[in-house]
Amino acid sequence: MGHAYDVIIVGAGPAGCAAARTLTKAELSVGLFDKALFPRDKTCGDALIPDAFHALKKLGLIGRVAAISYPTHGMRLISCDGSDVLIRAHSACMPRLKLDELLLNGAIEAGAEFLPGHDFTAVLDEDGKIYRVEFNVDGQVASARARWVLLATGAHPAPIARAGLLQRAECRSFAVRQYVRNERLAKDFNELVFAFDTTVRGGYGWIFPGPDAVFNIGIGFFGSAHKHNNPRRHYEQFIAKLPLAQELMRDGEIVTALKGSPLRTGLTGTRVADGGLLGIGECIGSTFPLTGEGIGKAMETGILAAEAIIVKHGLSRAAVAEAYTRSIAALQPKFEVYRKAEFLFNWPYLTNKLVTHTGRNAYTRGKVEGLFNERSDPEFLLTLAGWRRILFH
Ligand SMILES: Cc1cc2nc3c(=O)[nH]c(=O)nc-3n(C[C@H](O)[C@H](O)[C@H](O)COP(=O)(O)OP(=O)(O)OC[C@H]3O[C@@H](n4cnc5c(N)ncnc54)[C@H](O)[C@@H]3O)c2cc1C
Repeated sequence: MGHAYDVIIVGAGPAGCAAARTLTKAELSVGLFDKALFPRDKTCGDALIPDAFHALKKLGLIGRVAAISYPTHGMRLISCDGSDVLIRAHSACMPRLKLDELLLNGAIEAGAEFLPGHDFTAVLDEDGKIYRVEFNVDGQVASARARWVLLATGAHPAPIARAGLLQRAECRSFAVRQYVRNERLAKDFNELVFAFDTTVRGGYGWIFPGPDAVFNIGIGFFGSAHKHNNPRRHYEQFIAKLPLAQELMRDGEIVTALKGSPLRTGLTGTRVADGGLLGIGECIGSTFPLTGEGIGKAMETGILAAEAIIVKHGLSRAAVAEAYTRSIAALQPKFEVYRKAEFLFNWPYLTNKLVTHTGRNAYTRGKVEGLFNERSDPEFLLTLAGWRRILFH
């Protein structure tokens, strides 16, 4: 007979930890399970954008993150033809090894019981009221029971399929990154660099500065990785073409090998809820299409699921599932616009124009800054009228 909780959360990334902290603060008992031992690394660009700050504020953890993250105050866009523009954008970078440890500690200190080394294998509905969740722990079966289960296992399809929520196995994007230390370049470097390049057609490359003069450099593209779409080759071509990337590598020290991971984006491909079993974070595709940013939205969906359970705890599974599904549906239109705007990265002519005109006119600059700061949607990129204003304002 396994341990019993109000809520079992499978996956202790940003989504799972945000949900755990929110639920335990409302005095619900939480078992937070992860297959990994922490601190664990998660392949990521490590950039925290405004939606992440918003979620961290809500969780009461923003001060702790601010104390150890690396603040950046601008975003440099470099187009395929080499022109570039710097816009105002407040963000921060922090290796996921540290961020996820901080979030996990935030969940544990609020009262969640953390059980590492638990590889989720099955969820079984016992009697229409209680779920039994099973794990593989060093080859042995372990189980626990709860009224509610939150699945927060990230982009990989296997656990989502085991929970019965998977609709589409393939992920819509793939990205790779590497850490490189460069003391000289790190001096006064306080911007996020996004570079569009024909070698990364349908995506972009990035250089993000982090604490201790360590940069996170990588590329991401739409589609999956395979021999004709080889991430390592794209990455090497990207470095060979971007002077800033060459400078970083030339006198930099490689800290980690190149690592890749799929991204589940667009709030598609997974059912959001099945009775008292709710999917949160990247397992339901909460990472933004177009940009690939997802830490903030993962935390946000975790908080939304926790709030649905807190408010409707005494009610039926259907009531909780409906409340949560509604709050996810409210995010959908924005994700849909981001998805449609992905076409842009296949058109170097348009990204060149966007960068040039962001430098030249206040209208486009305002729109692009608003996009990053979540004040405007990329809708202006989808219409002829929007492009007319970009080009002729
Ligand atoms: C290369 C790359 C760069 C990115 N850059 C950025 C960026 O700069 N900014 C940004 O905001 N987003 C970025 N993202 C997206 C971001 O990484 C994700 O949106 C975010 O990690 C999703 O959080 P999550 O909690 O849903 O899932 P995860 O962070 O993936 O956490 C899932 C957890 O579930 C656990 N788990 C998995 N399977 C099991 C199982 N069977 N049993 C138990 N536990 C399990 C894992 O060990 C893990 O701890 C990037 C992604 C990639 C791949």
